[in-house]
Amino acid sequence: MKIVFATGNKGKLAEIVEILNDPKYEIISMKETGFAGEIIEDGTTYEENALIKVHAVRKYLSESGYPDECIVMADDSGLEVDYLGGKPGIYSARYMGEDTPYSIKNQAIIDALEGVPDEKRGARFVCAIAISFPDGTEETTRATYEGLVAREAKGSNGFGYDPMFYLPQCNATDAEMPIEYKNQNSHRAKALRKAQELLNDKIQRS
Ligand code: IMP
Repeated sequence: MKIVFATGNKGKLAEIVEILNDPKYEIISMKETGFAGEIIEDGTTYEENALIKVHAVRKYLSESGYPDECIVMADDSGLEVDYLGGKPGIYSARYMGEDTPYSIKNQAIIDALEGVPDEKRGARFVCAIAISFPDGTEETTRATYEGLVAREAKGSNGFGYDPMFYLPQCNATDAEMPIEYKNQNSHRAKALRKAQELLNDKIQRS
């Protein structure tokens, strides 16, 4: 079964292939189908944005005569910092400007929490996955990954806000942890595993 994943991010696609890790599914990116359009993510929730991506790719596939039997999936994710009232949330990629380096964004969040005690440093990554099945039905899943805003950005694994996301149970930031840990425990990993259960169920019933 072919799954078209609505992402242009190669790192994300590799992470998804690794997590789903099932020979039943051939996972390709939207770019491999020829999709080159821009998707405006103007939803107000992670789920809405993931569905917007899925709909844009589904529309392109049907207009370009691509075989209908494929599944289309997309994710939308973000970082929520409790002390900042849940910001940057769905605007995480755009926070302080899309092109601003993450070293600057990470430091700005750490600076905003200067002197704030641990019990008020709560943060989480959130991920929603949308799935569009060939029969026209749709599902979404959501999962979170809990941590704290670090007192210092550390580590070089991962991407984005990982260096400022501290995991107290590991005494390390997400960017200091091996990729295998993240693939097991992250918001994206958990939301994808929920999506995988829905996929397997659906395929079994059809
Ligand atoms: P999108 O889901 O591709 O729209 O991106 C959401 C943004 O949230 C990313 O660009 C990152 O800034 C942030 N983000 C989401 N997941 C992670 C993660 O696992 N580590 C670090 N940053 C993340």
